[in-house]
Amino acid sequence: MANGEKRDYYEILGVHRNASDTEIKKAFRKQAIQYHPDKNPGDKASEEKFKELSEAYEVLSDGQKRAQYDQFGHAGVSGGGFSSGGFGGFGGGTPFGDIFGDIFGDIFGGGSAGGRGRTQGRRGDDLLYNMEITFEEAAFGVEKKIEVPFAKRCGTCNGSGSKPGTDPKVCPACRGAGQVRYQQGFFSVSKTCGQCNGEGKIVDDPCPECRGKGSIKDTKTLSIKVPGGVETGSRLKSPGNGGQGLKGGPNGDLYVAISVKEHPLFQREDNNVVCEFPISFIQASLGCEIEVPTLDGKVAMKIPEGTQSGKIYRLRGKGIPSLQGYGRGDQLVVIRVETPSNLNRKQKELLEEFARISGEDVHPLKKSFLDKVMGFLS
Ligand SMILES: [Zn+2]
Ligand SMILES: [Zn+2]
Repeated sequence: MANGEKRDYYEILGVHRNASDTEIKKAFRKQAIQYHPDKNPGDKASEEKFKELSEAYEVLSDGQKRAQYDQFGHAGVSGGGFSSGGFGGFGGGTPFGDIFGDIFGDIFGGGSAGGRGRTQGRRGDDLLYNMEITFEEAAFGVEKKIEVPFAKRCGTCNGSGSKPGTDPKVCPACRGAGQVRYQQGFFSVSKTCGQCNGEGKIVDDPCPECRGKGSIKDTKTLSIKVPGGVETGSRLKSPGNGGQGLKGGPNGDLYVAISVKEHPLFQREDNNVVCEFPISFIQASLGCEIEVPTLDGKVAMKIPEGTQSGKIYRLRGKGIPSLQGYGRGDQLVVIRVETPSNLNRKQKELLEEFARISGEDVHPLKKSFLDKVMGFLS
């Protein structure tokens, strides 16, 4: 730990890796109370410790982030922007308002909304959008418009939820704080007021347009840029385009999960495109020229005489562009020699004739195999 390396989040909180959410919350609470800056003014070490605790709690209290952390360690939950198959950074809006409102509201800030210096805002939910794209779109990227749900401020009541001309009244249960407190062991814990759902206000005369909610469900159109090189399982993050934050809290983020449709001709292996190309045994025997479909159109290829089934030819740079933005994979053309079937009598006669006039020297592989069998069995 001496060289500034990050400590394990579980170790910081002093919990097992399989600790439940409740255990994590408990562990954080216990230590956070001890090291909270309000309790240790001017103490640098406590401040550092508190920061470390908060960071660990922020990750381990969020199922998605915790899973990322379990899988990839610190690298899984830091950094930002786009990442293939995983999540980017957290973006700016961390839900600290939530944690503090929940845990420290009463203990440090006094009970009333006014006495609490910190925002009560709640971060909006993250949304997941499943997007299906074609093989070509995955290869070269695409910009797609999608419709996402979004809560629009009601224009009739201007967001108050009250019928125009009337005002919402202060909630009598929480006296406008939005939170009520109760005793739990040594602590006075606050929870969201059930009477007003944490709004602090009660609407007696609801706005007819939004039925007192202050917002109307709407959709908005977003343009999502999918970079070339994505594959099924890739996730894109559109910060701030998730669910709307409450009471001034930041919006959640929108995640776009990519799934790529199957292609009738191509399969993907890493950044290579694999394409099977059937040719007749006559073409394979005599050699031929074929036109291979690629992501960039047709490419002419010479197949030499005597080509065996399963032979793979490589077309350099005709594969999938790398997601990192430089270089492309190759296209692998797998030759399949097709054995003729449904032959009529005339065709069979000709092949029998062919067999009669060709000795084993036209089938060196078969000859060498039979020789080995003879040697093995004798
Ligand atoms: Zn309204
Ligand atoms: Zn209330």
